[in-house]
Amino acid sequence: MKIVCIGRNYADHARELNNPVPSKPVFFMKPDTALLHPHNPFFLPEFSNDVHYETELVIKISKHGKHIAEKFAYKYYEEITVGIDFTARDLQNECKDKGLPWEIAKAFDQSAPVGDFIPIDQFKGREILFGLKINGEWRQNGNSKDMIFSFDRIISYVSQFITLRKGDYIFTGTPAGVGKTMPDDEFELFIENQKLLVFRAK
Ligand code: MG
Repeated sequence: MKIVCIGRNYADHARELNNPVPSKPVFFMKPDTALLHPHNPFFLPEFSNDVHYETELVIKISKHGKHIAEKFAYKYYEEITVGIDFTARDLQNECKDKGLPWEIAKAFDQSAPVGDFIPIDQFKGREILFGLKINGEWRQNGNSKDMIFSFDRIISYVSQFITLRKGDYIFTGTPAGVGKTMPDDEFELFIENQKLLVFRAK
């Protein structure tokens, strides 16, 4: 399976990193080795001094598709959760300055903790609230209605370039409030009142 991640999908987050708000989706990928196994801690990598958390809604692709029209994209996902797009911000800034790809900053081992999936039906036609607590305090709160590109638009766009397969994940971008991860931070991620992911940084 593969993990596709959308960048800059919330205007408030694009602004906090001084990035322009995009006119079409920006995406990059993480390999399956980026998944954090359940019940494992997240080990802060030695190659970075500034690993940021980015809390994101994650959808799971439910069937094979290519060149998916936006109006049919809803047929390609049934489940949703929250995850963290861990980002070595210091390395990412170096890559950006040099115009280089982002993999060393984004695709490293354990950089994609993903929660338990829940059916997306229950949110039909309404906004989805999600958030992150660290050590019991709210750090990020998001609302799917603030996404620049909807789930359907993202699936349509990405599938023009890359075939989506059953079991692939799509991280759909972070709202504002990203920050530095410290050793012993305890992460709790929610969709509304459902706690879907818990882990600790080491
Ligand atoms: Mg992100």
